[in-house]
Amino acid sequence: MKKTNMILTSGCLLVCVLGASLAAAESNHEKSPVVIPPAAEPAGAKSPNYQVEPFALGQVKLLPSEFSHARDLNAAYLLQLDPDRFMALTREMCGLKPKKESYGGWEKRISEMGHYISACALQYAASGDERYKQRVDTMVAEMAEAQQAAGDGFVGCISRDKFELFVRGEDVPKGGPPWYYLHKQYAGLIDAYELAGNQQALEVVVKFADWADGLLSRMNDQQIQKMLKVEHGGMIESLVEIYRLTGNDRYLKTAGKFHHRAVFDPIAAGKGEVLAGLHANTQIPKFIGLMRRYQITGNEHDRKTAEFFFRYVLDHHTFANGGNSASEHFRTPDKLAAELHRELTETCNTYNMLKLARLLFLTEPRAELMDYYEHALYNHILASQHPESGMFTYKYMLYGGYPQAFSTPFDSFWCCVGSGMENHTKYMQNIFFHDEKSLWVNLFIPSELDWKARGLKVRLETQYPDKEDVALSISAASPTPLTLRLRWPAWAQGAVLKVNGETQSLSGSPGQYVAVTRTWSDGDNISWHLPMRAKVKALPDDPNKVALTYGPVTLAAALGRANIQVENLQGRDVRSSRRWDWPLPKTLPVLTALDRPVADWLQPVAGKPLTFQIPPDAVSEPVTLVACWRANTQRYAQYLDAFSAADWKVKKDLPKPPVAKKRGKKAGKSVKDDAE
Ligand SMILES: [Zn+2]
Repeated sequence: MKKTNMILTSGCLLVCVLGASLAAAESNHEKSPVVIPPAAEPAGAKSPNYQVEPFALGQVKLLPSEFSHARDLNAAYLLQLDPDRFMALTREMCGLKPKKESYGGWEKRISEMGHYISACALQYAASGDERYKQRVDTMVAEMAEAQQAAGDGFVGCISRDKFELFVRGEDVPKGGPPWYYLHKQYAGLIDAYELAGNQQALEVVVKFADWADGLLSRMNDQQIQKMLKVEHGGMIESLVEIYRLTGNDRYLKTAGKFHHRAVFDPIAAGKGEVLAGLHANTQIPKFIGLMRRYQITGNEHDRKTAEFFFRYVLDHHTFANGGNSASEHFRTPDKLAAELHRELTETCNTYNMLKLARLLFLTEPRAELMDYYEHALYNHILASQHPESGMFTYKYMLYGGYPQAFSTPFDSFWCCVGSGMENHTKYMQNIFFHDEKSLWVNLFIPSELDWKARGLKVRLETQYPDKEDVALSISAASPTPLTLRLRWPAWAQGAVLKVNGETQSLSGSPGQYVAVTRTWSDGDNISWHLPMRAKVKALPDDPNKVALTYGPVTLAAALGRANIQVENLQGRDVRSSRRWDWPLPKTLPVLTALDRPVADWLQPVAGKPLTFQIPPDAVSEPVTLVACWRANTQRYAQYLDAFSAADWKVKKDLPKPPVAKKRGKKAGKSVKDDAE
């Protein structure tokens, strides 16, 4: 287990505090997992329609791995944050004097406090650690106080004046999209109720929804559709959840008012090209809302629309790390190489795409959904966290040898810090699912499931993806008939399954689930061997811009720390291309054997898992490639130029090798800034 170290810019005092808290958090995690009883459901509450059921977070305990390490760093960070500082803006907007000054960065004018409540509720639900519940309870109590002071149900971190602009049909100034930030607060309150059992949170969020309904009732359809051009997060989702929790269809109708026809109608008609030029993270939560509405109401049109959107983004807008967006926007479909010099793949987008993948999986448990989930979880979410300080990335440069840019603990608070606080709390969320007869094993993250209702424990031990073997062992109170459904990743040709040492014949094919039906006894064990191979994945619009993958892993050229100041990887500016004045590498490695099979030239380094080198006849200069998340504190490139040997002979004699251009001040600027 790595400890926090000198990367934190605030010096030793903070490091020591974080380190102590991390140790405390670790010791807490070592206690037995506590399954938080669900909050009492009000009369009239609806149940979502799932084909498979999730386990409560506390039923799945992470065993030591990079994921538990990321969780622990994040858990320690959550304890460093002060609810009163998060509440400052909301108190001010509700007419109360802030108890403390707000944090710095974006937090001065908008607030990630909703994500903070959600993250603490998730952490509490997973660990049973009362310190996180205390934070949830404190913030909910303060929100209730602020709501009472406001007097009309409002309890937002954004000025009411902005909402009145919507009512008058006027343009809202750029920066701080109003509903987007309110949605985070709605979601935080719902999580406080559902995950941390805070009854008051439900009362506050229902009154808050009443306020929203009252505001929207003063607007005509034209005004509302104009309003919906501005980023509004998952307002449909939250209002559908409030409908689910209360059974009051008034909130379903309010959710319906957020139905943005200019986007939903073309997507429902299969016209994915409508997304080109739109702010990406404005769109994704809308479709989470549709998928959630389907699960509560059975509206098939909603499901099909959400499914089409998800598939379209994966097929036409997604980069090698599983993320999407270029300078936060969907650009021309399949024209991804043209965007490589931009800041790519906002982390919030992947946070939301993973939520959408999970909802789609709950409705139809297809392995391809979890193939995507796994790929993006490793190559984007895990990579978005600084492995020592626990700080967060906003967007990525994927080409050109830029280093990654991370947040500071108290002076950044851009959106991906907010969603990032949640990302690392819930790695246990999608490893296992079940129905009455089956147990799905989706992700190969070391963990232990305690399925009390069936008297079963399932322990998953592995060094995957460093190694290709996954071991499952069963503890059963009594012999238990059950179908075990193991995800067979689409890339894993030649997989081998053994039960108690005996090789099983596999029906089906990669990209599906392998079903093993038997009566399981205490001590039974399963071995699942998943052979990994290297692949070259070119961008659709340029066969000479490629990423290398190995099983579920996207590799990155590890380009070292020359001309960078490691201690300054954290900062307030979100854009790495703007932040660094440090010279870029004069040249980048170019792959020069694209006409030969990748297995001929991508050579594993003995004794170093997921580490590869390339012989001189296949690359322009020496380079080491590693799992991309392990290159995130140095210069790196996930995309490289690549040519056949014959083409390279011509190219290398050109005056300048293909190297990233230094971008100007406007390089990362969004085409519109009505979203954040
Ligand atoms: Zn973001």
